[in-house]
Amino acid sequence: MRFEEQRERLVEHELRLLGIRDEAVLRAMKEVPREAFVAEEMREFAYRNAPLAIGSGQTISQPLIVAHMAEALELAPDDKVLEIGAGSGYAAAVLSRIAKEVYTIERHRQLADTAAERLKRLGYENVEVRHGDGTRGWPEQAPFDAIVVAAGGPGIPSALLRQLSIGGRLVIPIGEELESQQLVRAVRRGEEDFEYDELGAVRFVPLIGEAGWPADEAIEKPTVSRGVVRPRLGLPDLIRDVAEPFESIEKLDFKPLLDRVGSARVVLIGEATHGTSEFYRIRAEITKALIERKDFNFVAVEADWPDAYRIHDFVTHKEREEPHAWEAFARFPTWMWRNHETLDFIHWLREHNLTRQASRRRVGFYGLDLYSLFTSIHRVLRYLEKVDPEAAEIARIRYGCLTPWEGDPANYGRAALTGRYRNCEAEAVRALQDLLKRRVDAAMRDGEELFDAQVNARLITDAEEYYRIMYYGSDESWNHRDTHMFRTMRLLLERYGDGAKAVIWAHNSHVGNAAATQFGKHGQLNIGQLCRQAFGAGAYLIGQGTDHGTVAAASLWEGAVEIKQVRPSHPDSYERAMHLTELNRFVLPLTKSKSPQLTAMLAKRRLERAIGVIYRPDTERQSHYFDASLPGQFDEWIWFDETSAVDPLTTLQAAEHEPAHPFAIIDR
Ligand code: SAH
Repeated sequence: MRFEEQRERLVEHELRLLGIRDEAVLRAMKEVPREAFVAEEMREFAYRNAPLAIGSGQTISQPLIVAHMAEALELAPDDKVLEIGAGSGYAAAVLSRIAKEVYTIERHRQLADTAAERLKRLGYENVEVRHGDGTRGWPEQAPFDAIVVAAGGPGIPSALLRQLSIGGRLVIPIGEELESQQLVRAVRRGEEDFEYDELGAVRFVPLIGEAGWPADEAIEKPTVSRGVVRPRLGLPDLIRDVAEPFESIEKLDFKPLLDRVGSARVVLIGEATHGTSEFYRIRAEITKALIERKDFNFVAVEADWPDAYRIHDFVTHKEREEPHAWEAFARFPTWMWRNHETLDFIHWLREHNLTRQASRRRVGFYGLDLYSLFTSIHRVLRYLEKVDPEAAEIARIRYGCLTPWEGDPANYGRAALTGRYRNCEAEAVRALQDLLKRRVDAAMRDGEELFDAQVNARLITDAEEYYRIMYYGSDESWNHRDTHMFRTMRLLLERYGDGAKAVIWAHNSHVGNAAATQFGKHGQLNIGQLCRQAFGAGAYLIGQGTDHGTVAAASLWEGAVEIKQVRPSHPDSYERAMHLTELNRFVLPLTKSKSPQLTAMLAKRRLERAIGVIYRPDTERQSHYFDASLPGQFDEWIWFDETSAVDPLTTLQAAEHEPAHPFAIIDR
């Protein structure tokens, strides 16, 4: 990449995000070629946001710190500036693009000469370099509107304070140790009146001189390889302060998270994609902890009810007498649930449920979605045939209105809407009413089969409506779907009785309170929002995100699953801020954070990425980013900087399962 481009990226993608706001400073940083201030062999690193060696044991400061100090000086175009520690001359060049005149002093003669020659050659005519001890200032040119010291001293040299004009600003790193300092700003309010504030912890080479460190003491310490100078001002730094990093999912201590969940009744766990292994695995581990340590009663996921019910039967050890007539999780996108990550969890749950004697106490597994119109019709009819063949006949006639559209429910919606076909709403509703009138059949286990049939009948009425309103616009059908999911969850909570607790697994876009996103502004709602409204703090919302890696997704609807590369996150996104923490994995409390400052900074809207069952990297900005306010959406955020795709079951692997297994493939 050309240097100009690298410079542009450094400024736009890093400095801005790290908290630099002064446009004049950002412009100057974009103008000065940092590569011209370092040795030939260092040029390729010129735009790393890091300090670099410049000879004589000295360094050129990190771009961020140069920008940060320039910003703290609050320069005006007419200002006269003094710099102590010219080094390469780079910072002086930057300052010279913002202020009128710059005077800079360097104690190393060789560095001073090189800097003077270089600045002249590059055409910086308003900079003057002098060799000498900067702690005495430059009395001939005083007073200065701004003074900046690029080396760390034990205190503020009084000569420098004296050479400030009234209203002048002095920025200097000071500290009792040679190696670490506080960046301090002094403002001269009057002849003897100075105001001080601290700008953050930093790490500079020592200021050596009359009012600095004595030369011999400082020289004993190696001064070459400086650590990264890191002022604690940017969002990534604040995140790093609060984040709870973890080494691996297996080694994560869930205690702090569980403490924050507290007595919440519903815990919703989201994911930024439908195809990331880490999201599935940590979600499973959190869920296990909620089940084992907080007695959660069931898991309900963004999957079709009848399909997920196969898992429910499996994990609660309800082997059915007859083989299943249909294959579960067979519709697009099959990898979303038929994968090894989900398989591991349901096998764990099946084992876990053996420890629970009473079948009522067993932990259930359900689906909340409504894309199973016809499977649900078959399930209702199947149930009625068993318990009441006459009622089955009536239901069959009622649902007969819909059955011609099996395999193409979307076309039913369009045909009904344009009047080319009968609207089946009334029939579906009547069938549901008939089922709701039925009393719990004592012969059926706990009335469970009746409950299953009733939920299916509700699903049919909601799905029938869903396919009709799909054509009014996406907001309506989205809201209808999320409302259906929410109501199904409520039915389950009711069924489990007082104090029942649920874990919900769905995409971030369903889980994160929609009111805090751009969609909420347009009137979209989601399960997260409905839970927040219904349960308040009794709902705990967890989101998950990633910067880059691989993901399982299709290129178009009904398309084949592909393993795609996830692009590094957008510069204006939350993901980028997380990425810049340089932490690989962490849990970040948002609403229960110990740093209100962080929560406030995160609340400022940014972009957030959503990858669904389809991922189109080429149009990523338009198709996958939306704007949101993270702490408004979620109570907690889980971060994996790099992620990998879920591991879908191959047809062969699925076919190896016994027919009773929910992931079995049925021979047709
Ligand atoms: N601003 C420089 C980085 C400077 S590093 C750049 O952009 O490249 C700090 C510099 O301060 C070193 O070159 C060091 O030699 C110098 N220095 C330390 N004590 C000093 C003093 N008392 N007077 C002048 N320069 C000093």
